This record gives sequence, C-alpha cells and structure tokens, in this order.
Amino acid sequence: MTQGRTPPEQTSPDASPETGTLAPAKARMRELASAYARGLPGLDTHSLMSGLDATLTFMPMGDRDGAYDPEHRVVLINSRVRPERQRFTLAHEISHALLLGDDDLLSDLHDAYEGERLEQVIETLCNVGAAAILMPDALIDELLARFGPSGRALAELARRADVSASSALYALAERTAAPVLYAVCAVARLEAEPGDEERPTGKALTVRASGGAPGVKYSLRPGTLIPAEHPVAAALETHLPIAQESYVPFRSGRRMPAYVDAFPERQRVMVSFTLTPRPAKGGESDESAG
Ligand SMILES: [Zn+2]
Repeated sequence: MTQGRTPPEQTSPDASPETGTLAPAKARMRELASAYARGLPGLDTHSLMSGLDATLTFMPMGDRDGAYDPEHRVVLINSRVRPERQRFTLAHEISHALLLGDDDLLSDLHDAYEGERLEQVIETLCNVGAAAILMPDALIDELLARFGPSGRALAELARRADVSASSALYALAERTAAPVLYAVCAVARLEAEPGDEERPTGKALTVRASGGAPGVKYSLRPGTLIPAEHPVAAALETHLPIAQESYVPFRSGRRMPAYVDAFPERQRVMVSFTLTPRPAKGGESDESAG
C-alpha cells in the first residue's frame, strides 16, 4: 500500500480540489484489487477470472480494448490486440467489476464527479486496479530489494508480470523511495518538430515513456532524443547493461547529473536515472512534469 506517501497529484501543477477525492479513491481501488489478487490461484488468464462470477469472451471489438457487462456478467476482450494488452485489459475490466461491487466507493465518486469527468476518473481507477492486480506490491518490493531502482528492475517487472514496459514503469516508479526517474527508450522514426529545424530526421533512439518516483518533479517527454554518446545509446549498441555517472538528457538540451542504469532488451533500453542531490538554484522548472 502507498499510504503515507505523497500522491503524485499533489505535486502536479494542475492539482485541483478534486484531488481530495481522487487520492483516497485510488488507495481504496488498490486495496480492492490487491485483495482480489491475493485470493487468486495465479495470475494467468484463467486464474485472473477465477475470482469473478462472470464469463470471458474474446472477440474483435474495433477500437475498444474490452468491456464489462454487469447485467450479463460477461467480460469482453478485443481478440485483435496484442496479448500483453489483452492481459492488462482483462485486469482493467475485472477492476470495473470490483468497483461496481463497492457501494461506498461508487457513491463517493458520484458525489464528487459527474458526466465525462466521472467516466475519466473511473477509467483511471480501473487502470490503477489493473496495475495492482498484475503487479502486486510484494513482487515490486522483491525486485527493488534484489535489483535496486534500476533499468534491470524495470525489465524484470515487465517480464515477470507480463505487462507492457510502460505499465511496469508507472507501477515501479510509484513504489520507488529514492529520487529516481525511469524511462523506456526505443528506436523510433523521428517526428518533425515545428520550429526545430536542427532536429535530425530518420530513425533514432528516443524516449517512449518516462515517469518519476513520488516527489520527482521532472520527466522526459516522449520523443526526447538520446544523444549518441549517452550510456543509454551505448547499452543499445553493445547489448550490455551499463551503469555509470552521467546525466538526464532533457529535450531542452539541459543535462542534469544522474547515476544512469541502462538495461538493453531487444530494440529497447530500460533506464533509471538516480538524481544526484545538489544545491538548489533558480531556473530549474523548464522540464517539470505537466
Ligand atoms: Zn474501462
């Protein structure tokens, strides 16, 4: 559980009075999901469904990932999306069922939100629930104890929980106590940036997803280019893990000192940047998370 830790919402610049409801609702959703997961014989598809009085149907669903029909007690999963996404969707739909079964939580949400915002909050909560089902606290804590807050821990979590690297990243970041920024980097085709004629074109190693531990106010925007001489680029090239003092390559060109742990995996690199404390000074807000 993450009680006692500052939820990220309170440090974000767009914190609103709603935060007063959202943080406890997330905590309650995590409790519901963790309790559900603890009662399962395992975390494979069949086991995941075993705690729910509902049937599971795979079918083509166009743009939709899945749905839960409480009336007929059916979980529908889009059969046309990749397996790891189906798995996260299954846990998400189970969370819808758990949420519908908690009258107190439901009425709190209906008191605090309405319309489209209510729908958004419910979707957010079901993602929180899905992460808690597929990545139990005990698993994350075990990996952090074994590998530290590292690129390796991120790769292991994605593999062991069988979730996407970005799902693993957000869950790992949330339970990391040290001032760490995580990133998943991959070779991608560069998008043209209006107003940035110097930006190279073609394929390059860029940030795909990034997120920090609670209290870390920086993040790397998706699409941020990794410089060729950076250890993350070297890890991709050599297929060898690299850990050394280096820097966070912000898009603005600013280099923030950090201990970099880069763990290559196929065409991606899982990275942790442990920020090194230094005296506070002005003008540091240009890359703050939005
Ligand atoms: Zn949903």
